Amino acid sequence: MKLHEYQAKEIFKEYGLPVPEGGVAHSLEEVLEVAKRLSTYPLVVKAQVHCGGRGKAGGVKLVSNEEELKEVSSSLLGRPLKTYQCPDGKPVNALLIEKATKIKEEYYLSITLDRSKEKFILMASSSGGMEIEEIAKRDPKSIIVEEVEPELGLMPFQARRVALKLSLPMREFAQIALKLYKIYEDLDASLVEVNPLVLTEEGKLILLDAKIDIDDNALFRQKELAQKEDESQLSPLEVEAKRYSLNYVKLNGNIGCMVNGAGLAMATMDIIKLAGGEPANFLDVGGGANVEQIANAFKILMSDEDVKVVFINIFGGILRIDRLAKGLVEALKEIKPRVPIVVRFEGTNLEEGMKILKESGFNFITTKTMWEGAKKAVELAKNG
Ligand code: GDP
Ligand code: MN
Repeated sequence: MKLHEYQAKEIFKEYGLPVPEGGVAHSLEEVLEVAKRLSTYPLVVKAQVHCGGRGKAGGVKLVSNEEELKEVSSSLLGRPLKTYQCPDGKPVNALLIEKATKIKEEYYLSITLDRSKEKFILMASSSGGMEIEEIAKRDPKSIIVEEVEPELGLMPFQARRVALKLSLPMREFAQIALKLYKIYEDLDASLVEVNPLVLTEEGKLILLDAKIDIDDNALFRQKELAQKEDESQLSPLEVEAKRYSLNYVKLNGNIGCMVNGAGLAMATMDIIKLAGGEPANFLDVGGGANVEQIANAFKILMSDEDVKVVFINIFGGILRIDRLAKGLVEALKEIKPRVPIVVRFEGTNLEEGMKILKESGFNFITTKTMWEGAKKAVELAKNG
């Protein structure tokens, strides 16, 4: 789950971290109220959307008087903002209005989990302001990594070592890094990113941007945070999928994928690409899906207009194939499929399940292996 920049900065402030003075606004009226309270110019107007790259897309703007503030705010509010990370755009329902900071240098700083190392990592770079992927491409030598033992937490000497490498004020930087680590732990975050962390012309450090992602698996014990989710930033289908505890991810291709389990989802994406196709989405019904979830998953797949063919790739373990097949047939009677459906089932009661599909009267294209299924789906997607 993602937090907005203004929400993340409120948390930063609670932990005593230096963020620019500002406030959030949902209407032009509120914008002017915040500006009145700040009573200074220039101000920065920042669109609150769950996409990076707002600056380049015109979602972060400096204004030097009330007239400009009104103009910029009303052009942003209520419209979708498209950035390279969100080509379809996300609605701007809130603006963060802040006192402008005089920037001398921009740095990158983040804390995340490195799964392969089974450790947390603190990452920093003197090439702030651009995305970490871009830094990795353009200036990989600038990236500093400190591995953090989960049992020990980030040690002060590690934070100081990073400060030294970045030539930043040691005490100040170390305090920031340690507090960010505390937030990462306290909130069950999967990412805390500050990009840029800036050194001002007065020599102070300020956290100019803020990104916090919360681990969805911890939301049951982060109830207050869970309430902060802004569903307007999710697509309608994502909201629908969440309601039924399905994992739905929209992609750019035209093959709708229904799978169970994250591992099979990844394998399905790979094999479709290998067969020369592009997934439109993947819908993971989870390892222990029930018939109702399968039916709902199918409805969601069918309402994605990009889907030209559906590929169902499911391993029946807890959910037996015959029950799955029955659920699928029931769902189809209601939905009336508008595209071909390729099915690859494997697992318990496979034969009974296949019989149900065959006798259903629907024209399922069944295959024995994943590879055959993927090839068939790609072929059908190509021929429209
Ligand atoms: P992002 O593009 O979505 O990551 O949005 P950011 O909050 O990181 O802002 C993008 C860029 O706008 C920053 O890297 C800064 O260069 C610039 N920017 C943001 N706030 C200020 C500010 O207060 N003063 C100045 N001079 N530039 C700012
Ligand atoms: Mn940024």
